[in-house]
Amino acid sequence: MRLSRLLFVTLREDPADAEVRSHALMARAGFIQKLAAGIYVYGPMMWRVLRRVENIVREEHDTAGCHELLMPAMQPRELWEESGRWDRYVQDGILFNFRDRKGSQMCLGPTHEEVITTYVRRQVQSYKQLPITLYQIQTKFRDEIRPRFGLMRGKEFIMKDAYSFDVSEEAMAESYAMMRQVYRNVFTRCGLRFTPVEADSGAIGGCGSEEFMVDAETGEDGIAVCRETGYAANLEKAVSVISAAAEPSEEVAMHKEPTPGAKTCEALLALFPELPLTRLLKTVLYKVTYADEGEKESVVAVMCRGDREINEIKLSNYLNALAVDLATEDLVKAATGADVGYAGPIGLADHVRLLADDSVKGVKGFLCGGNETDTHYLDVYFGRDLDQPETADFGTVQAGDRVVDGDGEIEITRGIEVGHIFQLGTKYSEAMQATFSDENQKMQVMWMGCYGIGVSRVAASAIEQNHDDSGMIWPLPIAPYAVHLVQMKSGKEDQDALAQEIHDTLEAAGVDVLWDERKKVNPGAKFKDADLVGIPIRIVVGRDAAERKVEWSLRSDIGNKEAIGADEAMARAKQLVQESGR
Ligand code: ATP
Ligand code: MG
Repeated sequence: MRLSRLLFVTLREDPADAEVRSHALMARAGFIQKLAAGIYVYGPMMWRVLRRVENIVREEHDTAGCHELLMPAMQPRELWEESGRWDRYVQDGILFNFRDRKGSQMCLGPTHEEVITTYVRRQVQSYKQLPITLYQIQTKFRDEIRPRFGLMRGKEFIMKDAYSFDVSEEAMAESYAMMRQVYRNVFTRCGLRFTPVEADSGAIGGCGSEEFMVDAETGEDGIAVCRETGYAANLEKAVSVISAAAEPSEEVAMHKEPTPGAKTCEALLALFPELPLTRLLKTVLYKVTYADEGEKESVVAVMCRGDREINEIKLSNYLNALAVDLATEDLVKAATGADVGYAGPIGLADHVRLLADDSVKGVKGFLCGGNETDTHYLDVYFGRDLDQPETADFGTVQAGDRVVDGDGEIEITRGIEVGHIFQLGTKYSEAMQATFSDENQKMQVMWMGCYGIGVSRVAASAIEQNHDDSGMIWPLPIAPYAVHLVQMKSGKEDQDALAQEIHDTLEAAGVDVLWDERKKVNPGAKFKDADLVGIPIRIVVGRDAAERKVEWSLRSDIGNKEAIGADEAMARAKQLVQESGR
């Protein structure tokens, strides 16, 4: 492709809203253009990348025996009522929904469990038709709270979603294991460095899931990993051993302590320098929204040891809540009779449900809020001064924690979620009556799995992982072009002829070439653009064209330039492309 024929426009400045490099570089190189928050035009170069990613996804799914189909993006409310997810998604605010001219409520699909379950229940009658795994590559719509990072978190984005249907739990586990391998293959072929982690299943539900995380400092997800045991889990879900709390030297009666202005652990530690953090129990109040209560406000108080943080995802799952938010000042005052910062387990209003993180178990002689402004209780004992509340794991794993299985220490790293696979069990098939008749003509519900890949996010995370100060560095399998052919001076006969020959020969061999033959652009600017665009193989046709000599380099090692023969360069390019599976 001659570059002069492309709409090739680059920007000198990063867009003001670009918080991560992939966003800034893709925008500057004209790969994406913002239309509104979280909504982008994919330019021709970007579209070539996305099609490459899609094709890898397709090949790996097809090889594994999955079948591609395409479902409507627009979905009727009734289906979402059947699965019981309408309210949750509307409450969450994620669902784009509207009425058609007849007044029927519809949504733009954020995901397709309802539609696929409907499709399959109508198509499948007998166990003989199972197992089946279907997938599509399609635009998804989500009204994200914070659309950002360019293609990483869009309101409209491209997803591959697959759904498996099986006759039994064991068969579902087999389909799931097969898809896990498909995912490993896809991300490896895309040239990404990634880690599969145990994950929370969120609003999709089901009985177990894993996410595929691209290793990146700028990732939105925290991951707990243990090098010794290989444990890896999203922080939303991760567990660790809770260390023992410090014990008091003697048992003292509970008493009130004046704590003027001390609303935080730090302030309290300053007042009680002898008190270990593990004997300080905080009580945090939450406003909890449940599906069946509408707008009614429920308040839950959660106790937690001072050295641990509360994990709102675990709390929300435990309560089976639609949403869990920190209580407002008014709710706190109504629950405690005090200003914010003095909540505690003793003397809370009756309407407040009290829970505690596992870390409070066995803590003796602790300090806790007094439910009275500027007051705390000290030397409090469960059993003696109050009952130990209902406890569960509501804690967030921290760096340095010990792993639960085996012997090892947890580190916290960051990642970008590019894929998520779920064992759904019978959640949707039961709710939506997706049944089949088994070998004995008995009706059974199907066992489902679902599997997502953020196609546009994969492309963005490849750049998050592979870039330098000058621009993007595309992995060869998904690069917009394989070869960037830079012609130093257009219109010089020997250069024109050699560049044309290299272009035509490589293209004929299935190696796609972007040929920068712009006339009024100087070589320095051409190199700058080539650095920005990040095509992996670079061949420069210049002064030595008459001797069929070119300059060879790779974008990933751009300082390393070699003068070689044109035929050698073409042979190398073909070989690299072949090896990459492009
Ligand atoms: P996240 O936790 O990042 O919001 P999710 O868990 O809601 O994602 P899934 O429902 O599991 O996402 O969707 C499957 C895949 O689609 C994700 O693994 C991710 O790669 C991609 N994806 C999800 N939301 C977006 C978005 N707003 N923009 C781009 N890609 C997305
Ligand atoms: Mg997910």
